[in-house]
Amino acid sequence: MSNQTLLNRSLQSVWHPCTQMKHHEHFPLIPIERGDGVWLIDADGKRYLDALSSWWVNLFGHNNPRIKDAIKLQLDTLEHVMLAGFTHEPVVNLSEKLAKLTGLGHAFYASDGASATEIALKMSFHYWRNLHADAKAKPLKTKFISLKNSYHGETLGALGVTDVAIFKDTYAPLLMQSAQMPSPDFRLSAAGESAEDFALRCALALELYISEHHHELAAFIIEPLVQCAAGMAMYHPSYLRRAREICTQYEVHLIADEIAVGFGRTGTMFACEQADIKPDFMCLSKGITGGYLALSAVLTTEKVYQAFYDDSALKGFLHSHSYTGNPLACSAALATLAIFDTDQVIAKNKQKAAYLASQASVFNDLPIKHLRQQGMILAFDVQSKQTKFASACYTAALSQGLLLRPIGNTVYFMPPYTTTESEIDFMIEATLGALRQLL
Ligand SMILES: *Cc1c(COP(=O)(O)O)cnc(C)c1O
Repeated sequence: MSNQTLLNRSLQSVWHPCTQMKHHEHFPLIPIERGDGVWLIDADGKRYLDALSSWWVNLFGHNNPRIKDAIKLQLDTLEHVMLAGFTHEPVVNLSEKLAKLTGLGHAFYASDGASATEIALKMSFHYWRNLHADAKAKPLKTKFISLKNSYHGETLGALGVTDVAIFKDTYAPLLMQSAQMPSPDFRLSAAGESAEDFALRCALALELYISEHHHELAAFIIEPLVQCAAGMAMYHPSYLRRAREICTQYEVHLIADEIAVGFGRTGTMFACEQADIKPDFMCLSKGITGGYLALSAVLTTEKVYQAFYDDSALKGFLHSHSYTGNPLACSAALATLAIFDTDQVIAKNKQKAAYLASQASVFNDLPIKHLRQQGMILAFDVQSKQTKFASACYTAALSQGLLLRPIGNTVYFMPPYTTTESEIDFMIEATLGALRQLL
């Protein structure tokens, strides 16, 4: 079938995500036929380096033999069984492994990140209600807070704690109210103020708010270290440390949304490790299956779990999704986690991140600001007056054989961990080429 036919059929039959479909009158869809390592290959054989890990999910390249084989093996025994009333080895193995990695437990599964956010919010709210019966009653704790410019997904509950205007404003009348705390994004610091001093100043504002409102607050949900969707806004780990102390002091849950930053992205297995904190809930998804299948999980503490453990059904967490704990997805996750162990991924990524940093210094010769890095995320803000910089840069990069998708004026790399030094060189060269077309 000709490409053009496929593109037309796609535009007729598929409603593409995060897209004004009419824009495709000017921006053609790209028909990807196969993937190989960091490369996406279209129907004409043109190759694109996937510098965003296909929107932050693909950790070990496309067509990864180990993850693929694990799924194939699982496919021969059990593709799916409902998880209410039943269990299976992949989900038990994965839950034990995640508990060992996070220090939390009782993994509750869903299929995407937004659902993990919903689950954490509902569990936190329900926890305070379950305590209602005894002396520890906290029935008024029904509200949530998040950071300015936060992103926690786009279902109605998750959107209620998200703070990105283009995703949220249209739906505002439908959403639960939540308050946003100042973001410790160090680009917002005062002249001469260190990232840490700024983080602590923001933590002070958080403390003031929580000290006044804790009686009605169920939880504070936060993206640890990097607010990715805000344009790779990075901040000092001292903010997390203080947030943990303040939440503990005032009995407010801390929900760590590690959906984007978990699984090695920031240089440690989980971003929370860099502040040496343990949240009350951790949301995981995106990289968890290496980008192979939809899976998310929420992990929590023994204390939270025990508040639900009761003779009464209504005290239980009566939430479910049809594909909860899908064995194929769990086996992909187990294969992904095995790669971390056998290939010493965290240690090797340190060298890779250092190489990326050294090569990316060439961007300082361009009109950019805030070249910044946190592990395997590198970003900078382009000073361009072009109103449609992001889409122009996206198009220019594609012409160079590179998949980049700037957020506003922020250009970022979030490549698969299998990206080689020569592929990093290609990524930088192609980005320079694209920016030269625009600046
Ligand atoms: C992507 C993302 C989500 C939502 O995950 P989906 O699978 O897209 O629903 C939530 N939180 C963060 C931090 C994310 O980056």
